[in-house]
Amino acid sequence: MIMFRNSHEIVKLLVKEYLNNPKRIVDMTLGNGHDSFWLKEAFPEAELIGFDIQKDALKNSKERLEEFDKVTLIHDGHENILNYIKKEIDFGIYNLGFLPGGDKTITTEKDTVLFSLQDLLSILKIGGFVLITCYPGHPEGKEEANMLENFLKNQDQKDFTIVKYNFLNQKNNPPFVLSIEKLREIK
Ligand code: SAM
Repeated sequence: MIMFRNSHEIVKLLVKEYLNNPKRIVDMTLGNGHDSFWLKEAFPEAELIGFDIQKDALKNSKERLEEFDKVTLIHDGHENILNYIKKEIDFGIYNLGFLPGGDKTITTEKDTVLFSLQDLLSILKIGGFVLITCYPGHPEGKEEANMLENFLKNQDQKDFTIVKYNFLNQKNNPPFVLSIEKLREIK
């Protein structure tokens, strides 16, 4: 039996094991809507809100998610999340980098990712969690991953449990997953 082949399988397993009956979930990087699709398949009753800055991403996601209710797709950067979501959320997901099949020069950026993560964590419920897939195999992805690790390493362990799921013996800096579970309200 193979446990995991890649970071995506880790993300799916964590969601399957630990996300129970969520009311509200946020896809911070919609892309082509694949992550939102399997999340809505797993939790059709949950409200899903997704962000992307690219028109093509919104269009592809809209088509992919057509069959589902309670889906709101927002054509704006995730750094503006608090303009759109005022209520508590159960789960957030980021898949960093560029839109597969799209313009490779339009990628997530470390400053806006950090800004948005802080806001996302402020509206995350206690016991809720966020999963971030990082791509350190290219220079900007590496910088983004380093920034996130530095930020997360310095969080109080009474506030969050933070875990890095990394493939130690795969070549070329494979993607890894960061999981952040909120333990208490942050002052
Ligand atoms: N989760 C997606 C899927 O399942 O198809 C793949 C996401 S793709 C790796 C990263 C996406 O992040 C791109 O579509 C890109 O346009 C988007 N992005 C970049 N900067 C963003 C921002 N500030 N806010 C929201 N999305 C952003």
